[in-house]
Amino acid sequence: MRAAVFEGEGKLVLQEVKKPEILKEDDIIGEIEVCSICGTDVHMTSVPPGYPATPGTILGHELVAKVVETGTGVTQFKVGDRFVVNPNEYCGKCNYCKKNLPNECEDIKAMGIDVDGGFAEFVRVSEKMAFKIPEDMPSELAAFAEPLACAVNASRKIRVNPSESVVIIGAGPIGMIFIQLMKAAGAYPIISLEPNPVRREYALKCGADYAVNPLEVDAQSFVMEKTQIGADYAIDVVGSQMMAAINCIRKGGSVLLFGNNAKAAPAVIQSQITYKEAKVLGTWLANASFDQAVKMLASNTLNLEFLVSHILPLEKIHEAIDLMRRGEGVEVLVDPRMKEQGI
Ligand SMILES: [Zn+2]
Ligand SMILES: [Zn+2]
Repeated sequence: MRAAVFEGEGKLVLQEVKKPEILKEDDIIGEIEVCSICGTDVHMTSVPPGYPATPGTILGHELVAKVVETGTGVTQFKVGDRFVVNPNEYCGKCNYCKKNLPNECEDIKAMGIDVDGGFAEFVRVSEKMAFKIPEDMPSELAAFAEPLACAVNASRKIRVNPSESVVIIGAGPIGMIFIQLMKAAGAYPIISLEPNPVRREYALKCGADYAVNPLEVDAQSFVMEKTQIGADYAIDVVGSQMMAAINCIRKGGSVLLFGNNAKAAPAVIQSQITYKEAKVLGTWLANASFDQAVKMLASNTLNLEFLVSHILPLEKIHEAIDLMRRGEGVEVLVDPRMKEQGI
């Protein structure tokens, strides 16, 4: 089959590889419908890399697939079922798994980073990591299941009520998902901070009440003007904006740190947290939130499909990643079936 294999130092090479086979009784082989380009894919293929991947691995972790083969122990899936995947396979045995924190597993195997993922024609996944989706759900919509599951896990930590104000820093695909989640929760106003003008436009379409360029407008003053005392919540989707987030919240407000940039080391003015009685919360991956994400997609509570700006064949994987790298694509999908269908 055709696959995009990470060969180290910014090298992602399209090549013929062996089709995955059932190895364990609970394995499923899926034919990929689409796989989206995540910010992590951009980081992993950068030089120097912003996030480490294991050389020799097929990248891609936000995938939608159809079952073509099942191991003898598979009980919940049959050939033809469609599914999305929690790419972070946990061991089920370590201290964190026993604390019901599989997202913090001490031996996590990340699909598309350390084990073969979805920039390929087929993928192998263990049944416990697969989540069934309805037959008629468009794959362009289902592709949002993984980032949505992470955002749902995050939003449970702040539980926003109607009329509470939220600042969302960063309006990439995850930022757009947060804007829509907060809108669905009844938040007001929702203020999006984003330098890219195209993304600000999308942010408004997603339901942000204001979309502001923080490089041109003083974000803190803007938030104060719109909320009088500061926002109830601020979410940093970027991974380096903790102080900006703390500056935007009111006394007693909460900051949620979602974005992950291991290289960022922002200076923290600790007294701001102390005197504001601020709550600063982290959140990591998805935890028992995939079911909820799939249900939300099926219910059409959110309007995500319009965020898909490009669908490209697997052969154009580099172009797809570059679109995201340059911020020209909002949600970019790769469809390995495209060539076969002659599209
Ligand atoms: Zn991702
Ligand atoms: Zn574990």
